[in-house]
Amino acid sequence: MKVKDLKKDIKKKLEEAKVQDAETEVRLLLKTYANISEADLYADPELEVTSETVLKTLDDAVGKRCSRIPLQHILGKTCFMGFDFNTPPGALIPRPDTEILVEEVLRDYHDGTKILDLCTGTGCIIISLMALTGDCRGTGTDISDDALSVAEENADLILGDKKQFLELKKGDLYEALDEGVLYDIIVSNPPYIKSSDIDSLMPEVKDHDPVIALDGGLDGLDFYRRIINGARSHMIKGGEIFLEIGYDQASDVTGLLEENGFKYIEVIKDYSGNDRVVRAVSPVL
Ligand code: GLN
Repeated sequence: MKVKDLKKDIKKKLEEAKVQDAETEVRLLLKTYANISEADLYADPELEVTSETVLKTLDDAVGKRCSRIPLQHILGKTCFMGFDFNTPPGALIPRPDTEILVEEVLRDYHDGTKILDLCTGTGCIIISLMALTGDCRGTGTDISDDALSVAEENADLILGDKKQFLELKKGDLYEALDEGVLYDIIVSNPPYIKSSDIDSLMPEVKDHDPVIALDGGLDGLDFYRRIINGARSHMIKGGEIFLEIGYDQASDVTGLLEENGFKYIEVIKDYSGNDRVVRAVSPVL
């Protein structure tokens, strides 16, 4: 089959299955399973793909995608901050929006920073931060054994020798931590979707991301309350907190930070112009 026809055929199937952004996904599927890049497609659209094995593997992957299994689970990987993270089911698939959170932390990073990542999931936040900085020490906590084993694998894959400076701990938010340890930075992308909204999410999300990684309780704010209320006793004075938020949660989350005495509260938007990250500093006095 000619690559141009293959592309057309897959795109049509994905569109019929109501996959969003079929165009991008066709490119990723062709690249991964048939080793055909976007450049190859333009340079030689008449190229024939003859290998039965390639066509069969590609067809299987397209079939799975049409049943709305997320591409990240089919490929087993997701690129986040330029690193390939393993993304089997069992931990939230890293989202591009979360890169904004990582970038904001990097902006304020100084040498020797001790960072706590609550609800670490695949570890995408803390592992990227450690990979992209010189000498920070990281702790990632999660309540899920499945997530922690994915994070462990990712730390092995991405951090190499730096992995010795990362600890992954099981437990419910701060309960996972040793008594008395104070962090310079607390970062989290906690579950923040209202329980009643979960049913209306896309099948890729509601049927494949772990519900505990999505569900933020009745008003979506359960984790922000617990994270913010507990933050000051786990961070240095003048330490910083960075939280990913849903597009309509800025005023509730900044309110919680104010109630807890945080200063210099700032809301940062994502590239679509939605509120995405809240940053604040714990008071010095
Ligand atoms: N910290 C992980 C991420 O941002 C997991 C978040 C979660 O499980 N809610 O992808």
